Formats: sequence, C-alpha cells, structure tokens
Amino acid sequence: CGIVGYIGTQDTKEILLKGLEKLEYRGYDSAGIAVINNEGVHVFKEKGRIADLRTIVDDSVKATVGIGHTRWATHGVPSKVNAHPHRSTSGRFTLVHNGVIENYAILKREYLQDVNFISDTDTEIVVQLIEKFVNEGRSVEEAFSHTLSILKGSYAIALIDNENDETIFVGKNKSPLLVGIGKDGFNVVASDAMAMIQVTDQYVELMDKEIVIVKRESVTIKKLTGEIVERSPYTAELDA
Ligand code: GLU
Repeated sequence: CGIVGYIGTQDTKEILLKGLEKLEYRGYDSAGIAVINNEGVHVFKEKGRIADLRTIVDDSVKATVGIGHTRWATHGVPSKVNAHPHRSTSGRFTLVHNGVIENYAILKREYLQDVNFISDTDTEIVVQLIEKFVNEGRSVEEAFSHTLSILKGSYAIALIDNENDETIFVGKNKSPLLVGIGKDGFNVVASDAMAMIQVTDQYVELMDKEIVIVKRESVTIKKLTGEIVERSPYTAELDA
C-alpha cells in the first residue's frame, strides 16, 4: 500500500498514476486518486489493479494538485466504496490514509454520532473529524493537527481541500512518508522515493507526529504542537 501526492504546474493525473504503479510492489487490493481544479474535486477509485483505475480516470479533467492511494484493506472489505480517497460529508475535504486507526470506534462515538458514514473503513472518521473541527471554527491546519493528535495507531495521511488548491496537508505516525522537493514550482509526497524519483531526487523524511504544509513553492514542517521544524533534504540514490 502507498500514498502519492503532487502539487505543481503539470497535469497531475499521470504523475499520480505512474507513482502508484511504482508502489504496486508493496501490495494492494484497490486504488484511487483525487484531483482539485476550479470545478472542485474529482475522485476516481476502483477495486483491483492500477490498470483498472486507469480505465475510469476521465482524461478531460485537468488539474495541477492531487493525491493518490493504494489500499491494503484492514477495516472494511476490498471494494470501490471502501477504496480511498474518502470525502467528508460536505465534500469539502478529501483524504488518503495508510495504516490503522486503533481508536476509530471511540472517536466515532465521541465526536461523530450525527455523521452518516459511507464506507466501513477506519479512515473515514479522520476526514469527518477534520470537517467537524473546521465547522467548529478552527483553521484547516489547526483542524488537521488537532485530529492527528487524537488518533491512536499508525498513519500516513494526505489531505486536500476544495477551497484551497494551493496546499496538500500531510502527516505521519509509524507509517513512512516523504516529501519530495521539486526544482521549478512543484513538490511531491510519497511513501517511498521510488514513486516520484522520475520527477525529483530530493527528499525530506518526516518524523512521527509531524505535519507538512506542502505548497508549489514551499514545504513547511511542523510538530503537531505547531512548532516549526527545519530539516534539509537528502538525495535519493535510485534509478529513475
Ligand atoms: N486502514 C485503512 C483501510 O482499511 C488503510 C489501509 C491501508 O493502509 O491501505 O482502509
């Protein structure tokens, strides 16, 4: 299973799909991508291979920001509905996750009694919690950090917001996640440098309980507490 993300100037669909193909070796049962453009978010997901996902991706949808996921089901059977990305009720937030949220049932009971869930995944509570905390008045960044701070378990997460096509929010705990630094106006996200080695060989490794605010021209790493972290990229030595 794995995660990819791209924010830049090129059409993102092919970059995401190629990245997911590079992560196929990690094993998966379904896959999906979500991209945002001025019409809003477009989600394509399918049970089965990346080749199956490719057949349903609408080539006429052009976008320069997006996230992708290969799923290894832990909660909820492999199916199109349970495949990631998952969306919040209003449709504003879209999220991918690798790992297991151990306290998802408790969080659901405590915070999300009124929410209608569409999937059987542990993941869906994460995107719904973010929406809930934003609706309560927090900024998206605050809602993202706060949500991650109450999760127990393992996660690599990437989030996009319909109302902001300039940012991908990512975070991790006990699951790998890297941010790739592009040269001219783009940055990427990947579970493994292999997924994005074709576009950049410069990577910053994330530590547990850090988030990154990824924009076209900047990458800002923070602790969940808000403190900024400085970390230099390393050069990944892989064959493109
Ligand atoms: N626990 C999540 C699910 O079952 C994510 C699984 C994964 O790591 O792909 O949907």
